[in-house]
Amino acid sequence: MIYDLVIIGSGPAGLSAGLYAARARINTLIIEKDSAGGQIATTDEVANYPGSIENATGPSLVQRMVDQAESFGAKMVSDTIESVDFSDKVKLVKGQKEEYKAKSVVIATGAVPRPIGCPGEKELVGRGVSYCATCDGAFFEDLEVFVMGGGDTAVEEAMYLTKFAKKVTIIHRRDELRAAKSIQEKAFKNDKIEFIWDSAITELKGDGLLESIKIKNLKTGEEREIFADEDDGTFGVFPFIGYLPATKLFDGIIDIEGGYIKTDEDMKTNVEGVFAAGDVRVKSLRQVVTATADGAIAAIQAEKYIEDNFN
Ligand code: NAP
Repeated sequence: MIYDLVIIGSGPAGLSAGLYAARARINTLIIEKDSAGGQIATTDEVANYPGSIENATGPSLVQRMVDQAESFGAKMVSDTIESVDFSDKVKLVKGQKEEYKAKSVVIATGAVPRPIGCPGEKELVGRGVSYCATCDGAFFEDLEVFVMGGGDTAVEEAMYLTKFAKKVTIIHRRDELRAAKSIQEKAFKNDKIEFIWDSAITELKGDGLLESIKIKNLKTGEEREIFADEDDGTFGVFPFIGYLPATKLFDGIIDIEGGYIKTDEDMKTNVEGVFAAGDVRVKSLRQVVTATADGAIAAIQAEKYIEDNFN
C-alpha cells in the first residue's frame, strides 16, 4: 500500500494538511504519536484563532479539527515514528508498529516544551513538576505554584493556575516580561500572582514529591532555597521557557537551521516531495493560525507534486 500523502504529526498543522489533502481526494494518512492536537491540546483558552469563540478550549478546537479531517476521508493512526528514508521516489516512514510508504510526506512534528535542565527536574516530573497547566493544574488546589518564564505561555498559564493554586509566583530571568502587553496587564492586576525577577531555578529537590527549589538571582549571583509550606508538604513548578522543535528524526536528511526545518514559502524542504508545516519549520510567528495556514499550503503543494511526478 502506497499512500499519496503521509503526514507526521497531528497538531493544527498536520490536521489542516490532512483536511486539505483529503478534500483534494488524495489518499491521506495522519500519524499521531500519543494523542491528537500537539501543544494546543494542552492549552486552556484559544482566544486568538480567528473564529474561535469565547471559552474555546484547545482540546475542543482539536476535536473539531480531527472530526473535520476524518469526515473528508483522512485516515488517522497512532504510532511513534523512529526513522525515515527519503532517498527514493517512494518515501519510507518507519514507525514502532508499522512501516508506511508514501508518494509525499508532510512533516508537522511541532515542538516540545524546553526543560529547565537543572538537577532534580527529570526525577520530579509528575511529582510536582509539570509542563501542562491544563493537564495538571487541578492537582495544585490550594497549594503554592511557581511558574518559570516570561513569555505569553508563562504568563497566560500562570493566570490559569490561579484558579487552583493559593499563590502563583512567576520567576523570570530578566526584570521585564516578554509577554504581550495585554496579557501582562491582566497578570499585574491579579492579586494571586507575584514575581521574582532576574532569577532562574537552579535545582529542584524532593523525596517522592517536590519539596523545595533553589533560585539564583542572575544579577547578584545570590542563591536561596524556597521550601514548601510545612502544612502543604509540597508545591508545583511549571516551566514555560519556550519550546524545542521535534526535528531529531530528520537530522542529516533534511536541511535544518537552528533546530528548525528550512522551507520555502510553499512549505517545500530541500527534499523533493517532502514538505514541512507548523512550529517545526523556520518562521517568524508560531501560532495556531500560522500552523493551519502552513498545513493547507503543504497539502496543496503535495497534491501538485504527486500530479507532476506520479501520473
Ligand atoms: P517564548 O515567547 O519563546 O518565551 C519563552 C520565555 O522563557 C521568555 O520569557 C524567555 O526569557 C524564557 N526563557 C527561555 N529560555 C530560558 C532559559 N533557558 N532559562 C530561563 N528562561 C528562559 O515562548 P512561549 O511563551 O512559549 O511562546 C511561544 C510562541 O507562542 C510565541 O510566539 C508566543 O507569542 C506564542 N503564544 C501566544 C499566545 C497568545 O497569543 N495568546 C499564547 C501562548 C504562546 P526572555 O524573555 O529573557 O527571552
